[in-house]
This record gives sequence, C-alpha cells and structure tokens, in this order.
Amino acid sequence: MYLLFFAYFVIGAVIGSFLNVCIYRLPAGKSIVTPPSACGSCGHRLGALDMIPVFSYIFLRGRCRYCGAPYSCRYAIIEFLTGLLFMSCGLYYFPGLNMVLAWIFIACLVVEAFIDLDHQIILDEILLLMVPLGLVYAYFNYPSLKESLYGALFAGGLMLIIFLVSRGGMGAGDVKLACVLGLWLGLKAAIVCIFLAFILGGIIGVGLLVTKLKTRKDPIPFGPFLCFSAYISLLFSPYLIYFYWSLFA
Ligand SMILES: [Zn+2]
Repeated sequence: MYLLFFAYFVIGAVIGSFLNVCIYRLPAGKSIVTPPSACGSCGHRLGALDMIPVFSYIFLRGRCRYCGAPYSCRYAIIEFLTGLLFMSCGLYYFPGLNMVLAWIFIACLVVEAFIDLDHQIILDEILLLMVPLGLVYAYFNYPSLKESLYGALFAGGLMLIIFLVSRGGMGAGDVKLACVLGLWLGLKAAIVCIFLAFILGGIIGVGLLVTKLKTRKDPIPFGPFLCFSAYISLLFSPYLIYFYWSLFA
C-alpha cells in the first residue's frame, strides 16, 4: 500500500519535471521536446543525474554541478507538488484508466496555473487537449454526458457574466478555463469549484493587499485559484457538499 503510494509520488515527480519544461517553454512558443535541458547559466547539457526530480536539487544544494550557478527552488517545488497531487489520487481512484485521466487533468492544471502566475495567460493548446479527454472521463464517470455539458455551461456561463460585468477584471482565458473545468467536473463539482475559487481568490487577494505585497494596480491572476479549486473539487466535492449542508442541519 505505502509502496504503491510512493510509486505514485515518484511518477508525479517525474511528470512534474516535464511540466517544468512545459511551463518554461510553451508560453515562449518553444518546443517541449528539443533541445534537451541545459544549465541556463553555463549552457552545459544536463545529464540524468542532474535531473532526478527533487533529489538532484537537494543533493546538488540547488546549484549547477558544472558552473555552480544557483537554480530556483521552484523547479523542485513543482516536482514535489506534482508528486503529492498524483499520490493523493490514490486515495480516490483504483489503479486504472480513471486515475491516469485524473493525473493528466492535474498535470494540465499545474501547467495552466503556473503559466498564468508568470504571464497572466491561459494557454488554449492545453484547453484543447483537455476537452476530448474530459469527455472520455465524463463518459466513464458520470451517468450521462449531460452532467458534463451542464457543468461547462454553468462554469463558463457564470464566468462569462463576470467577464462582461468586470470589463477586464477577469480575463477571457479564465472564462474558457472555467468552461473546460466544468466539462471535466460535471455540474455539482463545477459549482463547488467556482465558489471555492472565488472564496480562496477573495481571501488571498485581500491578504495580499493588506500585507502590501500587491497594490490595487497589480494583476492577480485568477487561473491558479480555478485550477487549485478544480483539483479539490475533482477529489473531494462530495465531502465538501456534505459538509456544507451539514452546517444547516
Ligand atoms: Zn551551469
């Protein structure tokens, strides 16, 4: 059991290493296959030993083995995070197609969230990949595809209204992202996802303003909140809905 969860973590960390490449290269329109990874400082091509997720960063103390230039700990954090997220799927899914689809969903969320943090954009390429896979997931998990369709309509529709009312406060990318998340989650979990994203976005947004880490003029991307909430909703929405209603019981 523990061994299985550790295996999920390792798979996640390895995928996380690839997601780092995607997050770095996709917004720049660069290939995610070539060239192979190299040190950003000395240009030395990185070997297998330099690219063991999380561990290389710790063993090499966050520095390039060839020139000693410090690496950002962000790469290791994304590998570790993806490992944890993949591992948590083991709580909910049996090994099989559903779990692999959930992993792909999570991988897409990680990439979109960090690209949005860095560049304030949501990549359409990732969304286009998520649509057919979301329909496959819905086919195997929901009583009918209507659940998916209503989820997409609810999440996309609500965000579209906010987009139109806020006049630029919310990006068009967030509307598209919410629509695709709704498709994956189905109506019930989509409702949880959108409201959770607004609650988290509100709390953290106010927190950043109060602590003066951000001013009113700084853009605070909403994509990461949507992505995080989508992950929570995918795995835990039945519990959250139960908890919510138990407050009134
Ligand atoms: Zn170097």
